[in-house]
Amino acid sequence: MSDKMILQYLKKAQMTHELNQNELTALLSDTTIDDTLAAAADQVRLKYVGNSIHLRGLIEFSNICRQNCMYCGLRRDNLHIERYRLTPSEIVKLAEKARRYGYKTVVLQSGEDMYFSANILAEIIKQIKEMDMAVTLSIGERSYEEYDLLKKAGADRYLLRIETTSKKLYEALDPAMSFNNRKSCLFNLRKLGYEVGTGCLVGLPGQTIESLAQDILFFKQLDADMIGIGPLIPNQNTPLAKAAKGDFTLTRRMVSLIRLLLPEANIPATTAMETLKADARIIILQSGANVVMPNVTEGDYRRKYALYPGKICVADTPAQCRSCIGGKIKSIGRYVAADKGFRQHQPRLT
Ligand code: SAH
Ligand code: SF4
Repeated sequence: MSDKMILQYLKKAQMTHELNQNELTALLSDTTIDDTLAAAADQVRLKYVGNSIHLRGLIEFSNICRQNCMYCGLRRDNLHIERYRLTPSEIVKLAEKARRYGYKTVVLQSGEDMYFSANILAEIIKQIKEMDMAVTLSIGERSYEEYDLLKKAGADRYLLRIETTSKKLYEALDPAMSFNNRKSCLFNLRKLGYEVGTGCLVGLPGQTIESLAQDILFFKQLDADMIGIGPLIPNQNTPLAKAAKGDFTLTRRMVSLIRLLLPEANIPATTAMETLKADARIIILQSGANVVMPNVTEGDYRRKYALYPGKICVADTPAQCRSCIGGKIKSIGRYVAADKGFRQHQPRLT
């Protein structure tokens, strides 16, 4: 691919926020374009979502999971982690603390732990909503009726990564899970009025650049409100123990292209990035991202919520996380948003 063509695609992305599969593949494959791509994404980020950064306090409330995803440390066949489950009142107390740290959103994340019925979760959500916070759920696949009940209880947003849009790869890596079901969960969430977050893993064994390009087109088709991209971090207690780590620069190119194609989206600089490279989140915030999800989980639970090894800040307190990230944000001339950070729909400017 000539440099001229690559720059033409980049310009097209900046102006129209549209690229086709081949153009995306060409940009994702070009290892010389990273900084130029990031600078273009950073400009689009400024134009559409501004300089504020939304902080979402992450509560990892259970590491019990009925699923067996090949890459994940919480998979049910992993006998090497100590399982835990917070009580509903512990979860609400952590949300109260999150509010005191100044977070306007809590993200309740867990494995697919069926102890937490929709009714139990609804009670937790109602109590948190009384504190005037936005609630994001990230608890995996549930029925339409359960999503409906949780929405009616006050949940605002839902994160469910598609992980990969290659059906074959998805079903090889998430045994007994159905790609079509995951997709219909996302469309159900959309229909029910949630802000919908999705995303993918970068560096899955057998994943191609074309498939990553297709992931981006899927995010656009879904008109995702939030998109979280993370590199695969191989976990020694899973069948993917020997897999290679996801590539930092490819993951960064994904983030930048997603900002160019979905200019209004809320895009986190994910924690897994920082496992690959010190200060990765700051680099990613300057490459298109505008959200950080500091951990609010306390004590030993942080360590036990071991999706992947080398997770950062497992020994830190939530207060330390808040002040650390606040300092980093200031150091790059950005600031912490004062609002709840819903997606702002804007008329197309170009
Ligand atoms: N059970 C829920 C939410 C918890 S898992 C769900 O699966 O949707 C949250 C995310 O962790 C997953 O979407 C996956 O993309 C990520 N994850 C799991 N194992 C990982 C690994 N080894 N490296 C990087 N990210 C991983
Ligand atoms: Fe469970 Fe989610 Fe991990 Fe899959 S990725 S094993 S659903 S926690």
